[in-house]
Amino acid sequence: MHYISTRGKVSGIPFSEAVLMGLADDGGLLLPSDIPRLTAGDLAALEKLDYPELAFQIMARFATDIPANDLKDLIDRSYATFTDPDITPVVHKDGLFILELFHGPTLAFKDVALQFLGNLFEYLLTKQDRQLNILGATSGDTGSAAIYGVRGKKNINIFILHPHGKVSKVQELQMTTVTDPNVFNLAIRGTFDDGQAIVKEIFGDVEFKQDYCLGAINSINWARVLAQIVYYFHAWNRVRRQTGCQRITFSVPTGNFGDIFAGYIAKRMGLPIGKLILATNANNILTRFINNGDYSVGDVHPTLSPSMDIQKASNFERYLYYLLQGDSDRLRAAMEEFNLNGRLPVDAQLLKTVREDFASASIDNARTLDTIAGFERQTGYILDPHTATGIAAARELSDGSCPVVCLATAHPAKFPDAVQQATGREPDRPACLEGIENRPRRCEIIDADANIVRDYLRARIALN
Ligand SMILES: *Cc1c(COP(=O)(O)O)cnc(C)c1O
Repeated sequence: MHYISTRGKVSGIPFSEAVLMGLADDGGLLLPSDIPRLTAGDLAALEKLDYPELAFQIMARFATDIPANDLKDLIDRSYATFTDPDITPVVHKDGLFILELFHGPTLAFKDVALQFLGNLFEYLLTKQDRQLNILGATSGDTGSAAIYGVRGKKNINIFILHPHGKVSKVQELQMTTVTDPNVFNLAIRGTFDDGQAIVKEIFGDVEFKQDYCLGAINSINWARVLAQIVYYFHAWNRVRRQTGCQRITFSVPTGNFGDIFAGYIAKRMGLPIGKLILATNANNILTRFINNGDYSVGDVHPTLSPSMDIQKASNFERYLYYLLQGDSDRLRAAMEEFNLNGRLPVDAQLLKTVREDFASASIDNARTLDTIAGFERQTGYILDPHTATGIAAARELSDGSCPVVCLATAHPAKFPDAVQQATGREPDRPACLEGIENRPRRCEIIDADANIVRDYLRARIALN
């Protein structure tokens, strides 16, 4: 199995190199050269496996240059940090299945991928005697999941910028109470956009980037998509056993199109998925695309589901590559037009293909709150605001012909204010958050200035 770039100028890359490369050198995104297709017999053989065994069977088909025992060990260690024995359990509530992806150390679905990526980075870097210094800006969820993914790992440091005083209290504490010596929290006096601009400027300084072995940990890394494919199979197994139905619909709260893209790959591998329901909040570019063929960027609106407050979905280019049937020249032209005019050209024929795989609804704040409140009244089960958008979209779009699995992407305790607003009470805190206010913290508050961050990196990386 080799990896190629969506833009057509990079090919023949082994899995390990694709993981360390992140973004392809031609500016495109990396994809496997072909997608392994599972037969009905293969699917039946996966049915009885527990989560780590299933993960191994799926991942081994893509990570062909990692010895089987090493891959098994990486997977076992990555999911040993989850608090539920089924890793991503499925619960049945009010006619819907809920795939709980929030039993990892930071209570959001990003742990499923980043626990694995952290171990994989450490393994590859140690083997090659290389160092990696991860630099990223976060508005909340990604930062803490990335920090927990690499804390205490050899050959890796992580530097995460967050806007001082502008992330939720729980999110801030989750990041700053990690005091391992390889973790550096920088609270900048500015906004998330200021943080992102600083990271972009530093990555643009190619010499500095190389000298200091800087790398990113964002959602375009293929290994993150790969780890997320697994739970579609896991949920399918569970729900099939319970209902006897072959075809299953998934509803996915979407921001950067990473999570739902993993479902699309699972479908191309042969998993009998009906529609993929794509839920957005007021930032609804992907809903407009699927429903009207209108892929044009607007301003980012802050909502109750902040991890979906995204306009340019970074994984979308991967889907576009398949939609254009692997024609990299056409893809490059489309991306150029998009970058120039903020619009992506699609014709009726393409749109028809899109609608065969996807349906979409945009759920505003009021409906998000109504959904949390209504679900709690009906079932006693508390949804987080991201998950609530997926539930509302599933209710709107499912025709009842097959069971629907809604991906629960965060634990409600991460967003207590929205839950309080909807239900009048705060959600219970899971054990990992107990007493978090009293733990030691490590964080530097600095001005939003790329030169200050650069000096900080120079000093720390020289020390390590
Ligand atoms: C990141 C995130 C999402 C969006 O996932 P994408 O892969 O970016 O589409 C949804 N919900 C939560 C809680 C998240 O943290």
